Amino acid sequence: MVRKRRLKKLFSKIVGESRCWIEEEVCASYSYDAYPEKPVLPDIVVMPTHTEQIGEIIDLCNRLEIPLTVRGSGTNLSGGTVPVKGGCVMLTTALNRILEINKDDMYARVEPGVITQNLANAVEREGLLYPPDPASMKVSTIGGNVAENSGGLRALKYGVTDRYVMQVKFYDAFSNLVKSGGIPVKLVTGFNLKGLMISSEGLLGVISEVMLKLVPPPQARKTMLVFFDDVLDASRVVSEIIINRILPATLEIMDNFTIKTVEKFHHIGLPTDKGALLLIEVDGHPAAVEDEYVQVEKICRKYGGDVHIAKKQEDRDKLWQARRDTLSSLAMLKPTLILEDATVPRSRVPDMIKVIQDVAKKYNLLIGTFGHAGDGNLHPTILTDRRDEEEMKRVSEAIDEIFERTLDLGGTLSGEHGVGIAKKKYMEKEVGRGTLLFYERLKKGLDPKGIFNPGKVI
Ligand SMILES: Cc1cc2nc3c(=O)[nH]c(=O)nc-3n(C[C@H](O)[C@H](O)[C@H](O)COP(=O)(O)OP(=O)(O)OC[C@H]3O[C@@H](n4cnc5c(N)ncnc54)[C@H](O)[C@@H]3O)c2cc1C
Repeated sequence: MVRKRRLKKLFSKIVGESRCWIEEEVCASYSYDAYPEKPVLPDIVVMPTHTEQIGEIIDLCNRLEIPLTVRGSGTNLSGGTVPVKGGCVMLTTALNRILEINKDDMYARVEPGVITQNLANAVEREGLLYPPDPASMKVSTIGGNVAENSGGLRALKYGVTDRYVMQVKFYDAFSNLVKSGGIPVKLVTGFNLKGLMISSEGLLGVISEVMLKLVPPPQARKTMLVFFDDVLDASRVVSEIIINRILPATLEIMDNFTIKTVEKFHHIGLPTDKGALLLIEVDGHPAAVEDEYVQVEKICRKYGGDVHIAKKQEDRDKLWQARRDTLSSLAMLKPTLILEDATVPRSRVPDMIKVIQDVAKKYNLLIGTFGHAGDGNLHPTILTDRRDEEEMKRVSEAIDEIFERTLDLGGTLSGEHGVGIAKKKYMEKEVGRGTLLFYERLKKGLDPKGIFNPGKVI
């Protein structure tokens, strides 16, 4: 306790006494995140209110040689904010100012703790669109989105966060403020350090400001919910839509288990006997939307799809409801939910669905599958109870098998949830020894004392 009191005294000089905590009940709140990992208490939690304080906090952690884990909203699904080696957890939630929305050059400049939805709303009021829309956007922060390179429900057409990052400012391990990128559309001065910070998962620096590209919103959109008897038919439709050079904004899938679970808890009128549903949204110029819609409908019907179209905004909201209620419904089935992130080339979605079905049977587990099928990004979601040791052993084997098979299909360990602690053990298999050694050298050079988020990724 003496050591912790000393820590509090030192950090208070930077952020003020009311913005740092050593009390166990507060530290416990920051000992875990959205990934079901064993909680670890930090020694201290600090909440800077000005971005300049970030550099001072890093400097102090370096001098004290204690770990620093940066935390936005803690919604990451890979254990990235669990302070596995204790030390300091720095919250970015009070760094939540939208500094500028520029309509002429179409960008927004924000602090890292801005909630994604708040940015999207502010931009929409100015008649523009910030496309990345992770399902967690009501709570996730822009800093977290950049550090995880988050995707979303519109990623198929609009891409993921990295496509929108024009500039990043960050503090390095030596407390220097580093800047990379800028407003010009063409900019090749210096190394692409903003690229380095994207997907860096808090290991290479602390992002203090982000400039994000905005785009004009689509003039029209058409939304449809399509039910199929067989999940494999639904996944074949996904491949065929893409093969026909149609890029919907949204192309989401949900299997029968997930449909039944959503209906059980939310009673929104989903047919529980159907094998799968697809939520499809096409957007753009009105004529193109109409044309794409006709083609998509034809493909769906070819595979026996029962197509429901939204005629007005109210209908659209209703169709989206099923997708929005997915995770909260699955979470009600069992005490522990493990949301995985298997991602394969789009043409292999039917094979991946089959893999997940086989694994669920083989290990006798409840697995609901939904996700961004158009991106090949499926979320097999295992419902379990981490107090049941025997079942957890089967869960672990099932996850190993899902990843083995994902890689065999030419896929990746993580389409959007990052590596953190969750995928660390599979890294060498996907990226190879040489790449891991490069990561290690890079990390050592940029953060010689290893203070930034130790125990993750490498
Ligand atoms: C219900 C639910 C739905 C989700 N849906 C999606 C989805 O559709 N798409 C998707 O991609 N993800 C999704 N996620 C995962 C998660 O929301 C994203 O990874 C999100 O970007 C994390 O943001 P955060 O603010 O919670 O970051 P945190 O969880 O707090 O942090 C994530 C990582 O970023 C680092 N970090 C945070 N801030 C900074 C900073 N300022 N500088 C440097 N590093 C930093 C942290 O150290 C950590 O390693 C979902 C999660 C949940 C719970």
